Amino acid sequence: MKIAVYPGSFDPITNGHLDILKRSLEVFDKVILLLAVNPAKKGVFSYPERLQIMKDAVAGLGNVEVDSTEGLTVDYCRKVGAKHIIRGLRAVTDFEYEFQLSAANHFLDEDIDMVFFMASSANSFISSSTINELAKNGADISGLVPPCVVKAYQGK
Ligand code: ADP
Repeated sequence: MKIAVYPGSFDPITNGHLDILKRSLEVFDKVILLLAVNPAKKGVFSYPERLQIMKDAVAGLGNVEVDSTEGLTVDYCRKVGAKHIIRGLRAVTDFEYEFQLSAANHFLDEDIDMVFFMASSANSFISSSTINELAKNGADISGLVPPCVVKAYQGK
């Protein structure tokens, strides 16, 4: 069984993330959506909130698991037997960071490879930080995030 891990901050999860997730499910038998917990980095949503939102967002999808880790993604991959890490690419600005990340991961474990999906044009401008900015200023974000995220902002 081909297992892949899709790690990220997911603060919060967006339609851009979900698009990459769905497309990766065409290639892998199971995808683990992994919340990368970094206690030093404070976000808009707490880690338990993000995890709950991620679970709600993928509730209708088969072959997806949601989990979190405080450690390195490659260590998590080894633990679950995943050989591939999924990431998404929007503009060239994403490239430099992802290229560096991929080199670092290769250094840590050369048996684990990163697989990149290009953002679809409709989602290419969506980032969690843009969503947070729009939501803070009362814009309608319902076309950019799953309904559980819209609800989560209402509770803020
Ligand atoms: P991180 O802090 O690890 O970059 P993010 O949650 O911001 O976590 O993003 C996780 C991954 O999803 C990254 O590879 C990012 O490039 C990708 N991604 C984020 N938004 C989109 C989008 N709209 N379309 C495609 N990929 C995206």
